[in-house]
Amino acid sequence: MAGTGIFTEILDGEVYKYYSDGEWRTSSSGKSVAIVNPATRKTQYKVQACTQEEVNKVMEMAKSAQKSWAKTPLWKRAELLHKAAAILKDNKAPIAESLVKEIAKPAKDSVTEVVRSGDLISYCAEEGVRILGEGKFLLSDSFPGNERTKYCLTSKIPLGVVLAIPPFNYPVNLAVSKIAPALIAGNSLVLKPPTQGAVSCLHMVHCFHLAGFPKGLISCITGKGSEIGDFLTMHPAVNCISFTGGDTGISISKKAGMIPLQMELGGKDACIVLEDADLDLVASNIIKGGFSYSGQRCTAVKVVLVMESVADELVEKVKAKVAKLTVGPPEENCDITAVVSESSANFIEGLVMDAKEKGATFCQEYKREGNLIWPLLLDNVRPDMRIAWEEPFGPVLPVLRISSVEEGINHCNASNFGLQGCVFTKDINKAMLISDAMETGTVQINSAPARGPDHFPFQGLKDSGIGSQGVTNSINLMTKVKTTVINLPTPSYSMGDGFISRL
Ligand code: NAP
Repeated sequence: MAGTGIFTEILDGEVYKYYSDGEWRTSSSGKSVAIVNPATRKTQYKVQACTQEEVNKVMEMAKSAQKSWAKTPLWKRAELLHKAAAILKDNKAPIAESLVKEIAKPAKDSVTEVVRSGDLISYCAEEGVRILGEGKFLLSDSFPGNERTKYCLTSKIPLGVVLAIPPFNYPVNLAVSKIAPALIAGNSLVLKPPTQGAVSCLHMVHCFHLAGFPKGLISCITGKGSEIGDFLTMHPAVNCISFTGGDTGISISKKAGMIPLQMELGGKDACIVLEDADLDLVASNIIKGGFSYSGQRCTAVKVVLVMESVADELVEKVKAKVAKLTVGPPEENCDITAVVSESSANFIEGLVMDAKEKGATFCQEYKREGNLIWPLLLDNVRPDMRIAWEEPFGPVLPVLRISSVEEGINHCNASNFGLQGCVFTKDINKAMLISDAMETGTVQINSAPARGPDHFPFQGLKDSGIGSQGVTNSINLMTKVKTTVINLPTPSYSMGDGFISRL
């Protein structure tokens, strides 16, 4: 059970502690932030509302701990990460339980998220020892006008303090996807978890604590992003921000100083369906892509752009599958569970009502109870409807009928987002041309968009992000290149004769 067994020390009465300088602490603010269970709409947990002084302290410790961590051999850093991964996987049950209760993720998917996170930490440790153990050797005579008098050695060095801010929908996975690359690369790490998802993150951080990382190297500051966020992101001690979330990322990037930013933001992933597509395959992928975790995924299919000639058949197939989706509590592994908050449910409802007023075809009746919204497919959506462009982050999926592939590509490219997209066709040549034409970070051919496997590069264009994720890209982003140049008094060529006379 959450907060018991090896996790007892992270709880103070009914409020979870924050983690600073290798210890679990109660905030001097005397205040807490409530985490509301999306399904019951009752307060499930409470976390500390940390103060600016506590942030200052954490940053000071992170700066000092990083100096000695950067001198810790790479293999030892990897060893500790492997240990943390094993502890995390061994304790998947209480962490998954918190995910169920604070973000209403179906129980089975919650366990998968924790296991996947352990695997990601281990993969990162392995990748780190390889890519950080390699540098480059450059010779000066390849550039015009130079002799071979300079040998340039490059290596990757850490940035310093990395601030990690994940979103609610994959709080554990998207936290470790920042923590593990930062640590293997020799950085220290300050985590600000999402409020919905904070308790799962605190449990995950305790696994790093138990693995024996040095004091101050990892910290976890809790509190509302709207209250503590600016102070964290504009803190002078921060050398890199890795953020995943919505538009907040755009405002952070405007305020942050001259530091590397990794921003993974929203998406409006389009699914373009051509006339020759395997419609059964498309329908299953629309269900998986559009409705998994109730559509609350950055890479969810968020608009279907289908050729008019096959639209009726596709809509019928999807409708039949929507009817089979189960709706209810996450504990019972229902396909569709409550969305994360009442404001989120209200926002989704606003999009649905706008589509209704403007004449979209409702393939099911719109139904909502509290934060629980039944899956809804909206056919005959037109570009003047908000749902054609905005990200519902809920179980509502618009279908736009198109009369040409160009129309589909133009719709996709007119979006301010550019995260992923997908195209369904049996013609691989066409698929490649469409992929090239789509302005998105990734295009999936004959499958729904997806972030994983976690070592694949993952990036958004336009308002969907800056930088690229995936294990290797994250390690590279959290390091910089350092060079040392050896200057020789005279040119030297390998195997060149007459070297004695040049000495
Ligand atoms: P969000 O509201 O932007 O919040 C993300 C994180 O930012 C949370 O930890 C939040 O803390 C924090 N935050 C809020 N205000 C802040 C501020 N002023 N300064 C610093 N941090 C602040 O996003 P969300 O609702 O959790 O997640 C949904 C969004 O994330 C969707 O748009 C989705 O597409 C996107 N997403 C993108 C990816 C990707 O990889 N591209 C992956 C998953 C999700 P609090 O919870 O305390 O407010």
